[in-house]
Amino acid sequence: MTTVSREPEATPPSAFPPPNLGRSVRVVGPITNVEPSTLPHPMNQRGELGKALYNWRHNTISVDPLVRVAFENHSADRNHVFGTMLRRVPKGAVNAQRTPVPDPLVMTRHIKRVAAYLGLQVFGVGKSHPSFMFAGKTVDPATLAEGEAVDSPEALATRMPFVIVGCVPWDYNLTKAHRHHIGDAAYDFTGQQSTLALLALEGYIREMGYNTLRGAMNGQAAALAAGVGELGRNGLIITEKFGARVHASDTLMTDLPLVADEPLDIGVEDFCKVCKKCATTCPTNSITHDDKVVHNGVEKYKINWETCYKLRPYVVQFWGNCLTCVAACPYTKPSAWWHDMAIFSMRSTPIPLRGWVARGLKWLDDRIWGEVPRKRVRWLGYDTGVKPGEQACTIAGCTAAHGEAGAHPKVDVPLEEMGFYYPLKENTNRFVKRGPAKVKP
Ligand code: SF4
Ligand code: SF4
Repeated sequence: MTTVSREPEATPPSAFPPPNLGRSVRVVGPITNVEPSTLPHPMNQRGELGKALYNWRHNTISVDPLVRVAFENHSADRNHVFGTMLRRVPKGAVNAQRTPVPDPLVMTRHIKRVAAYLGLQVFGVGKSHPSFMFAGKTVDPATLAEGEAVDSPEALATRMPFVIVGCVPWDYNLTKAHRHHIGDAAYDFTGQQSTLALLALEGYIREMGYNTLRGAMNGQAAALAAGVGELGRNGLIITEKFGARVHASDTLMTDLPLVADEPLDIGVEDFCKVCKKCATTCPTNSITHDDKVVHNGVEKYKINWETCYKLRPYVVQFWGNCLTCVAACPYTKPSAWWHDMAIFSMRSTPIPLRGWVARGLKWLDDRIWGEVPRKRVRWLGYDTGVKPGEQACTIAGCTAAHGEAGAHPKVDVPLEEMGFYYPLKENTNRFVKRGPAKVKP
């Protein structure tokens, strides 16, 4: 008589073990692919975040002409915003004459040099992983071979095994003028430059005969896997050279044979435990002082994006993007030998001792740069001004003497809420209660 084995069947090894995202983020459970319609901007588009935020995004023309050519939602005519035009450019066909790649390592070095030439100063190659994918993404059906189905994140990550992350960092001096239209310019224009450079790189890869898929992945997960940076307490990717002044959101998946980079370790994980400067300076208290939490199977610091986002309608005359958590971060410093040395000291110290090094570096940072970054920046006729109560304001070209509250010729806000570093953290509750300031015709 034949006996039937009752041994459980061995589970076939998964082609995708949990991804390695470095020390700052750990995958600890199953991840549900994020539906793009649940992200903040689509939610706002459906009016789910309240009238003030909806009107800020969809019915506001900025008082600042630089913002009007940098951010299409706040322009008088969105055709003036070159980033909008770029997103509408149709994708070119993949060249049928494929360039052979005998050595993926050589090709990786080559692509990195091309990317640098195009202006992508921040760049990395990661391994695609299904958990990084947004739900519902797929390739152009015209590119499928007969019988090929790409109907799941796994199939897509198998078809496009590499993800490229690249961007143009923001200028350091302009970033110092955060909470000001100067900071907005640094943020918005480099975003457009990144789009332009990535589009050129995408065209280059397709001209070599390989497929690409843009924007199908969570940019932060891809940036961590590609060794571009670590995730900070401020919920931002922190890079070695530029700190947090980067847009790590655009991704390019490809089947071009490459070699993936390893996750980075520059000590952000250890530094954030003792630093907390971003949490202290955030005007909306959106950044936690507490430990990491597990969200959608991932252990990380989680910011409250809703409170961060909802601030914007109330400050629209002065700035669009807060960026305080970028400017305050000790990693966000200009490229200099002492910056490299500080990173080197974190990186080369054994992990159990890094907390002590971080304490020393944070102490130095507070002494030299201040616990709250306050720097006056003059640029293109703008001036971040001097402290509230003194003679200056944030309105471009304003020369009014601000002797008393309400003396400004265009804007009906009290004097103490104008000018340098507007609005201070301690003003936040006040202006949120009062509602948006009014611009006089
Ligand atoms: S952008 Fe500003 S409000 Fe938002 S989390 Fe950073 S510091 Fe806080
Ligand atoms: S400011 Fe400090 S705590 Fe916040 S992300 Fe930067 S290093 Fe981490």
